[in-house]
Amino acid sequence: MSPHLDRLLHARQGPMTADMVLHPADFGLGRVPARLLPAGTTTAVCGFCSTGCGLQIHLDAAGEAMNLTPDPDFPVNRGMACPKGWEALAPLAAPDRATTPLLRRAGQAEGESAPVPWAAALQTFTARFKAIQQRHGADAVAVLSTGQIVTEEMALLGALAKFGMGIRHLDSNTRQCMATSHVAYKQALGFDAPPFTYADFEASDVLIFVGANPCIAHPIMWQRVMQNPRRPDIIVIDPRATETAQAATLHLPLQPKSDLTLLYGLAHRLIARGAVKPDFIAAHTRGYAEFAAFVQEFTPERVVAATGLPAEQIERLVTLIATRERVSFWWTMGVNQSHEATRTAQAIINLALMTGNIGRPGTGANSITGQCNAMGSRLFGNATSLLGGYDFGRPDHRAHVAEILELDPAVIPAGTGYAYDQILDAIDRGEIRGLWVIATNPAHSWIHQDRAREILRKLEFLVVQDMYANTETAQLAHLILPAAGWGEKTGVLINSERRLGLVRKVARAPGEALADFAIFQLVAEAWGCGERFRAWRDPAAVFQILKRLSAGQPCDFSGIRDYEHLAAAGGIQWPYPAPTAGTSPPTDPERRLFADGRFYTPDGRARFLFDPPRAVPEPPDAEYPFILLTGRGSSAQWHTGSRTDKSAVLRKLAPRTLTAEIHPDDADTLGIAAGDGLRLISRRGEVRASVVVTATVQPGQVFLPMHFAAVNRLTFAAFDPHSRQPSYKSCAVRLRRVDA
Ligand code: SF4
Repeated sequence: MSPHLDRLLHARQGPMTADMVLHPADFGLGRVPARLLPAGTTTAVCGFCSTGCGLQIHLDAAGEAMNLTPDPDFPVNRGMACPKGWEALAPLAAPDRATTPLLRRAGQAEGESAPVPWAAALQTFTARFKAIQQRHGADAVAVLSTGQIVTEEMALLGALAKFGMGIRHLDSNTRQCMATSHVAYKQALGFDAPPFTYADFEASDVLIFVGANPCIAHPIMWQRVMQNPRRPDIIVIDPRATETAQAATLHLPLQPKSDLTLLYGLAHRLIARGAVKPDFIAAHTRGYAEFAAFVQEFTPERVVAATGLPAEQIERLVTLIATRERVSFWWTMGVNQSHEATRTAQAIINLALMTGNIGRPGTGANSITGQCNAMGSRLFGNATSLLGGYDFGRPDHRAHVAEILELDPAVIPAGTGYAYDQILDAIDRGEIRGLWVIATNPAHSWIHQDRAREILRKLEFLVVQDMYANTETAQLAHLILPAAGWGEKTGVLINSERRLGLVRKVARAPGEALADFAIFQLVAEAWGCGERFRAWRDPAAVFQILKRLSAGQPCDFSGIRDYEHLAAAGGIQWPYPAPTAGTSPPTDPERRLFADGRFYTPDGRARFLFDPPRAVPEPPDAEYPFILLTGRGSSAQWHTGSRTDKSAVLRKLAPRTLTAEIHPDDADTLGIAAGDGLRLISRRGEVRASVVVTATVQPGQVFLPMHFAAVNRLTFAAFDPHSRQPSYKSCAVRLRRVDA
């Protein structure tokens, strides 16, 4: 056994702070932040979604979590939490936690793995991956990471994989949710920089939600909207009458994937009405004249024909944008998960730019993030951007990062590797033969699931590192590494509004499960590259490295002292640079970007970017006449359910079986009643669901919540060409009653 592994496993029996990492720092339990907390209470931000709510965790005499309450003083949630936050501790106590490494030996069937000691697991991990690399080249091993682990862990994983193990193809499940926003902002604004702060929910006169359902997907953000004292107009652009649409002042139920045409049509009408801000455009943007000429084709007639919306409804929205002082635009997966997602997101950015609705209170082109640390992944995942938002392709950036990390610049690859879908395609053709999957579940969540599972089965060696050994992907693994979850380790998450928040260890991981950070350290030692990462000795030390990487970048947070500074401040938004002579740190707890109209492009000007709309990849036809829409089912469910399904409370708050929502007219035509069994058939597969008859979906459309594994048996694998994000929101299906 290596000395590191020995120390780590023995430390688990010691005090709570001692088994976090190989060299624990003093940031653990018992350190009460500067603001007063009741005795036996500590704080952490929630580890489900990107809202980043603050929680108070109440501890027993041994320093372990007994229960929690929302933090009344945290600037994000002000004492509120959604059901997932209230139940955040429940998944840790699940009886089916992975507690020891599990190895599937030759001849054993899927799911038949047996416990092995950590030393054997690490030896197998290293020997099998190295053997693949020796036979087929370094690029024959790839990594799929996650937006669910802390920033220090994802940075260590990215550095270890790319600078230590020679792995070029590393991507993350943030490709499924936030890749579009990342690319859209980077191209248009010069950096992946969501400009808003949650205070903007309360300061807008008009809030326009495009493909977003915050009522259930981001309920605490929705509460902030409800606290807006300006009696705002709330506009929802969505094919479904979602919970948010039903609470809106105006719902535009457009045809699926006609959003890009609508957004260009809005731009056309705003120009025609003279409702643009020429001074702002001239001073702060580039490409407006070309954009204005381009949108001339998007006449009201064309937009009405494409969207199915009444002309008056569109004009009412134009009037609101044209006449109200503060207009904010918000989008999520309805935009990001599209075959033309990046240009759609940029069409929203264009509207904000041309009307001067950016950089002021209550404005902005604002992408709401999904996973708790998708923002951390975007900056420090080391996948499409080099650590800290740098560019792999630029020698000066590689040299700068190498200097901070005290590495030979030659170990930093000069380009990015494959995106998620390209990794799977490369496995399919035998180019990639080994895969390490961390805290994500592609056998459930990837688009066109049957093919994804077939591809994963082709791997010579699949390692899954997760809290649970029974996820759909873990069932296919050759080796399972048991990982600690949120609440069992320490580090930083970055929320939707760029706020860094601290998560703390408040419970022991079960059995021999280890923090992902510790697993990455052990892999580095076993692989033989541990020396390169000596300075990465624990999350607190890595946080200091990340500060240095961020310095001088738009995301500069070098002014944050340490974890306790973060906790005491209620989280801190980037940018928060270290003070220099004559400057002092920002003091406002809620800050937005671009108040000076200066963007992060080389010339400081934002770009108008656009392309003609493209037809949906799989339109409905006579054989498959319905359009399948997918989305969040309830606020009690999270993605593939690997954690939320462990809570008895959350299980009660959401349907336990798959339901399909169809319009009453379609139910009549098909002879289907509520509660009947329904077969949904696409060109790729078939699923069964029980019917909910509701006018919230339009005729010719059917909605399935994404949390059930069967759903992606139907979806069609199309991708946005810029972000390579999958288009989950539209494919063709036919419907049959189960007995038909
Ligand atoms: Fe946690 Fe998100 Fe719910 Fe807040 S809204 S409690 S961050 S899951």
